[in-house]
Amino acid sequence: MIQKIGTALRTQRVAREFGIETLVRLLSEYLPDEQISEVRRAYVFGAEMHAGQSRSSGEPYIYHPLAVARILGEMRLDHVTLIAAILHDVIEDSDVSKEEIAKQFGQEVAQLVDGVSKIEKIEGMSRQDRQAESFRKLLMAMTDDLRVILVKLADRLHNMRTLGAMPLEKKRRIAAETLEIYAPIAQRLGINTLRRELEDLAFANQHPHRYEVFVKAVAERLGDAKALIREIEQKLSRALADEGIGATVVGRQKSYYSIYRKMQAKRLKFLDVMDLLGFRVLVSKLDECYRALGIVHHVMKPVPGLFDDYIANSRGNGYQSLHTTCVGPEGKKIEVQIRTREMHHVAESGIAAHWQYKLGRKENANAAPQARAREWLQMLLESSGSGSNELVENVKVDLFPDEIYVFTPRGEIRRLPRGATPVDFAYTVHSELGDRLVAARVEGHLEPLNTPLKNGQTIEIITSKHARPNAAWLNYVKTAKARMRIRAFLKDQREDEAIRLGRRLLEIALRELGLPANTLNATNVAPVLKSYQLDEVEDLYASIGTGERLAPLVARHFLPEPVAGSKPVTRSSDALALAVEGTEGLLVDYAKCCRPLPGDDIIGYVSTSRGIIIHRLDCEHVQQRKGGPGERIALVWSPKVQGDFMAELKLQAVNRRGLLAGVAGAITEANSSIENVQMPEGASGEDVVEIRFLVTVRDRIHLARVLKRVRRLSAVDKVSRA
Ligand code: MN
Repeated sequence: MIQKIGTALRTQRVAREFGIETLVRLLSEYLPDEQISEVRRAYVFGAEMHAGQSRSSGEPYIYHPLAVARILGEMRLDHVTLIAAILHDVIEDSDVSKEEIAKQFGQEVAQLVDGVSKIEKIEGMSRQDRQAESFRKLLMAMTDDLRVILVKLADRLHNMRTLGAMPLEKKRRIAAETLEIYAPIAQRLGINTLRRELEDLAFANQHPHRYEVFVKAVAERLGDAKALIREIEQKLSRALADEGIGATVVGRQKSYYSIYRKMQAKRLKFLDVMDLLGFRVLVSKLDECYRALGIVHHVMKPVPGLFDDYIANSRGNGYQSLHTTCVGPEGKKIEVQIRTREMHHVAESGIAAHWQYKLGRKENANAAPQARAREWLQMLLESSGSGSNELVENVKVDLFPDEIYVFTPRGEIRRLPRGATPVDFAYTVHSELGDRLVAARVEGHLEPLNTPLKNGQTIEIITSKHARPNAAWLNYVKTAKARMRIRAFLKDQREDEAIRLGRRLLEIALRELGLPANTLNATNVAPVLKSYQLDEVEDLYASIGTGERLAPLVARHFLPEPVAGSKPVTRSSDALALAVEGTEGLLVDYAKCCRPLPGDDIIGYVSTSRGIIIHRLDCEHVQQRKGGPGERIALVWSPKVQGDFMAELKLQAVNRRGLLAGVAGAITEANSSIENVQMPEGASGEDVVEIRFLVTVRDRIHLARVLKRVRRLSAVDKVSRA
């Protein structure tokens, strides 16, 4: 109890000293009371969570989130964003969970705070200087709700405002990051007020000395010009009022960073006062923009070629305005921007305008965050007129990326298509890494290789010297590079296999012709290659292995003299037969008509397109088919044969309830599994039906065990191998 009172007192003190009342005053300008009291409740909660923590400046920590909320309050953002701003560091810096925030302030706030925390977690990860663009895109891609980015930008702005006594090197690094990542994000989203201040602060911290000199020089030039500015303002206002246009004319100093950049780009050494100033004419209606332009050009002569119509041709981030440059008093060039107040509002707040609190406007209140972003994008597209606009395209890619960004263990960012897997990742990093891939750790946990990766994850690839690409990977890889490498590898592997198989087939055929074992030597091979117009003996073997040429026919070329007629092919002894191991891949295939199993007597047919097709010796196709010389190949099972084979069962049973379940159970108990079932259509009642099952077995013995189990079922009349 005492502790609670203590906390409450401390909270009150902080409230007085660090501006919740200032924030509340600001919010009372546009938010209803009940929403303001929610914000106040968030403040009390946040202050309690951050109690005892302080910033490097020594201030209580809560001052920072409060200031972030104030920046967003100045942008007139909704109370959900403000609450999230106040709580944006509580997950990172205290023990509060996302669930707790959801319970206290609702799911929407919790999502936002969680989003900001996720960004903060990965912020320190990328250690590569040149990856700013990727990192920027990663931040955008990670964000489902753009208010997360708004909070993050305000957070960055307040941090930039309070860099204070940090070492120069650190300030420079943060400033560079701001210029490379956060200012461009603000620009893309059209939030120009924020962007300008971020840029100026970054400039000041990156080159403190240059900045100081620069500010002084600008102030000196402007000091002379005050009277001139007022003169132009009055002249334009009067001329517009005379024509019945109620306009606001403001002369203003351009941002330091934009002046600095302009001087650098144009290699200017001397600051012309008019380069520092811009005049802005704000009117009420669109048509007044063009009328005002005519009046401005009447008052001051326009400089030819320096007019831009960004109303008809918007710049793409929502910015709309007329830009012109005129010759002012003393022959100075003056830049004038003309736009409506509404356009001005959009130009300053960009996408933030879509989350601003609007009194009495409900239609948009429930739109999903993504829908609002789409709405904004739609507006950009419309305002940019016809023709594709590069900037709109960029914004679109940033807001709705079809790419994801992940980290290597060294903190490098890799870009991948959405849905990409650890296999894609490995091949993106290095081809060798993909070829040797065996497993992957995603965020430190082993995950299946087909797991789709998510933004911001760190992926570690585990390799083995003996690992090889796997054909199954082709089912889920998303990148062209991975697909190409895996395919190329499999093709090479098939060629190797074809060469080995072809050589073996040729050796058998030679032996059947009674030729000695050393027949395949260079002297004998050369003329044969020549007759086939081949360069390498491997090409000859491969053509036999793939079934393009028949081994017995090729073998004949090795006979000393041509033999007339064909020698009948009989079943050869086991010593001469080719051993089938069941793993020869595409070059050996099992006939679907008889589905041979290890243990069956078998025979092979050479097929030109499919390699060798293996049949059971008692298959009726084999009985009927005569086959030309060399088409049939004697085969035996290798003792090493392993893997799953298919067998078809034919079953006669009384069709009663639970029959299928019973059979399925028996098959499973025999350690087999069902691949397919065929029931006769329209079977009903107590009919006797014939059902066909396709099951997996290792060999004949295993099949016998499966049959025995099924036969034991009372409903089953007969069961046999089909
Ligand atoms: Mn923060």
